[in-house]
Amino acid sequence: MTEMPQSTQVRDPHENEFIQAVSDVMTSVGPVMDKTPEYRRHGITERIVEPERIITFRVPWMDDMDRVRVNRGFRVEMNSAIGPYKGGLRFHPSVNQSILKFLAFEHVLKNALTTLPLGGGAGGTDFEPKGKSDGEVMRFCQSFMAELFRHIGADTDVPEGDIGVGSREIGYLFGMYRKLRNRFTGVLTGKGLGWGGSLIRPEAAGFGCVYFSAQMLDTRKDTLERKTCLVSGSGNVAQATTRKLIEMGAKVVTLSDSSGHIYDEQGIDADKLAFVKRLKNIRRGRISEYIDQYAHAVYTPAAPDQATNPLWRHRAQCVFPCATQNEINKQDAYLLINNNVKLVCEGASMPCTANAQDIFIDKKILYAPSKAANAGGVAVSGLELTQNSIRLSWLGEEVDNRLKIIMKGIHDTCLAAADAYGRPGNYLMGANIAGFIKVADAMLDQGLV
Ligand code: GLU
Repeated sequence: MTEMPQSTQVRDPHENEFIQAVSDVMTSVGPVMDKTPEYRRHGITERIVEPERIITFRVPWMDDMDRVRVNRGFRVEMNSAIGPYKGGLRFHPSVNQSILKFLAFEHVLKNALTTLPLGGGAGGTDFEPKGKSDGEVMRFCQSFMAELFRHIGADTDVPEGDIGVGSREIGYLFGMYRKLRNRFTGVLTGKGLGWGGSLIRPEAAGFGCVYFSAQMLDTRKDTLERKTCLVSGSGNVAQATTRKLIEMGAKVVTLSDSSGHIYDEQGIDADKLAFVKRLKNIRRGRISEYIDQYAHAVYTPAAPDQATNPLWRHRAQCVFPCATQNEINKQDAYLLINNNVKLVCEGASMPCTANAQDIFIDKKILYAPSKAANAGGVAVSGLELTQNSIRLSWLGEEVDNRLKIIMKGIHDTCLAAADAYGRPGNYLMGANIAGFIKVADAMLDQGLV
């Protein structure tokens, strides 16, 4: 086991999420470091945990009552050894430097796994879009971009959405960038279809996650057909995961938002999912409204003060956490195991705590970490950039086929790396090792920069 680079805990002892993400990777890559002494000699672990650059900035904006508001903006440019920084923008009150460094660090390895030329970054702000008017969101995005534009570019740093940033926000951000630079380039991904976006991009993380889970089940000669599934979240990733699971013959019984979750024993079908999409994407309502429409379903409010999340108390064979980081803890993991879970495939970034991961691996559950399982999102962002560069748009079927090939490639790469280091079937180790080696080798080749 490789120890954490000292600098991480000494310099940033309060950055819990970042330390968690780094220690997850460092634990896996111990054997790699032992086998490749050049990595130690060239300080790869010390360098890979230190962002190449962090930009922090003031975001002043005017609310609908003509009051001045100020939020804090960030962009963490983590590693560009294999391509321009790439990763989402998160708009959520919990956003701080630790969360963005963890997301950026995850992206370094995740993006490497896609095989596309993408470095890693992440950004965002503590602005809360919930409850804001369209005008407020637009003015905020414009002010945010009025600073961010000088740090990004199609060959430098290419943001996209994350929690709280969807097609509406990407539109306002892109419009402001184009005005300031007088240039129409692929500087953001997740763009609208009429102005450079890619078909399948909104669905990619969720579809990719389900393709990955099917690959995992296939190693045990099993399929998703008729499996009962728990999905958390109700945003982009949760919606697409649910859609693909329905298409593949599985039954999804839960969805959630930060206020609580719904349980629909009959299963969420295509019509119910269409209702959820209208509710969340257009009306921007709460998931609790599901039971007004479907009275047989049950709504349970979130209980953040309780030791376990009520959503994970339901019985299911397959679990897709698609909401946020650390949403499955040790107690939740035991509940799921007691209910005979077979597979946990992460749609959100780092939704399982380190203890929960250990339990799943120890109990030989098929467990896929987010940097492998949700890499389809950033992979199709890479394909969007390619389409922008060649000024073409591919058909949805073409993008989906490429996504399937990429997800199968990531799956097989993880298994091969885990095998090579004597931990067959350990997708966590496999993903960390394969992503790390690719970036470490590029850093070695490029000297001490
Ligand atoms: N926020 C998404 C993710 O975590 C997308 C990032 C991107 O495409 O740049 O994968």
